[in-house]
Amino acid sequence: MIAETPAETLPSTSLPFPTLILPTATPYPDIPQFSIGTSWEERDIWAWQFGDGFYTLVLVGGIHGGAEANTVRLSELLVSHFRENPNDVLPGIRLFIIPVANPDGLVRGRSLSGRLNAHEVDLNRNWGCEWSDTAYVRDTPVSPGPRPFSELETMALRTFFLSVSPDAVLFYHSAAGGIFMGECGDMAPGVDWMGPLLEDATGYPVRKFTAYEVSGDATNWLAERNVPAAVVELYSAEQPEFEHNLNGVMALQCHFALDSITGAQPDPVLQQRCDSYMWRD
Ligand SMILES: [Zn+2]
Repeated sequence: MIAETPAETLPSTSLPFPTLILPTATPYPDIPQFSIGTSWEERDIWAWQFGDGFYTLVLVGGIHGGAEANTVRLSELLVSHFRENPNDVLPGIRLFIIPVANPDGLVRGRSLSGRLNAHEVDLNRNWGCEWSDTAYVRDTPVSPGPRPFSELETMALRTFFLSVSPDAVLFYHSAAGGIFMGECGDMAPGVDWMGPLLEDATGYPVRKFTAYEVSGDATNWLAERNVPAAVVELYSAEQPEFEHNLNGVMALQCHFALDSITGAQPDPVLQQRCDSYMWRD
């Protein structure tokens, strides 16, 4: 017997998501989609998988929720693209896309509150590299949580990263316009190749984040674990900048796909294709 629940008393998980969000029912039944965990308000954090190759790439949108909702839109467009163009998942690649790392913030819209999770914690100040109990967004103090990994959303992502052992990770943010490589202490994996590769392919310049002190950043925690990771800051706070970023994801795949056939003759068709992922204004 199914209990009848009046609509107004349904838990928040049953509220309709805004149109930006992928519906919770799988819209693409032929593509594996799974939840890596839930938010404080019990919204699923969805991951999509494309390909099952040796090299694992992870793309994450929306860690700053509704304040950077265009990164969610970008991630959803990438999901649609790889669904419609399976040949764009290159040989040797396993690609995961997590469009909404902070689903509770997303529903709060474009505001400081929308940047934070339901506990009013900034999820990109809650990671284990150089975590600090005082954290900032520009000159505004924000909560980093009571300790590193105090938040459900951060824990879900951390567990996911530890289980899939990524070879490269991108976190999409907006709108500082640049590529910012993760670094932690002496660890700076991928700064020699991934920053320049992404700059060439996306058109966003590689930059150092010097505007203010950032603590507990996700890409820095990945760097500490020797995983090349970058913050990709879109230019705009509204546009998904899909073409820039599809180019970036293709170039990143090429780095590993071409490497995966080392020992064999380089595939001239793949090589030629990969040479084309250069951003041209
Ligand atoms: Zn951000």
